[in-house]
Amino acid sequence: MRLIDADDYCKECGCSPPYGNNGECVNCIICDCPTIEAEPVRHGRWEKVGKIGCEFRCTNCQLEISMNGSARRPEEVGWNYCKGCGAKMDGAP
Ligand SMILES: [Zn+2]
Repeated sequence: MRLIDADDYCKECGCSPPYGNNGECVNCIICDCPTIEAEPVRHGRWEKVGKIGCEFRCTNCQLEISMNGSARRPEEVGWNYCKGCGAKMDGAP
């Protein structure tokens, strides 16, 4: 499945509400497509906090986690996603 921003498309196409699958919009085929709700993917990274160096904070929601003295980074032990906000920890701000 590929997701597009239909609202953005309709701005270009010039069609107007009501949108939907009932044939109201005669201008564009996009309005005849079924819609789903999708949340934009959030991105973040683990930022080192504290003095010991084994505590990290999500740059997106500020959730703090402790690596319990391990020298490894959270990503290395399966924290690729923040369990607080669901952000993908791929290094983006
Ligand atoms: Zn988070």
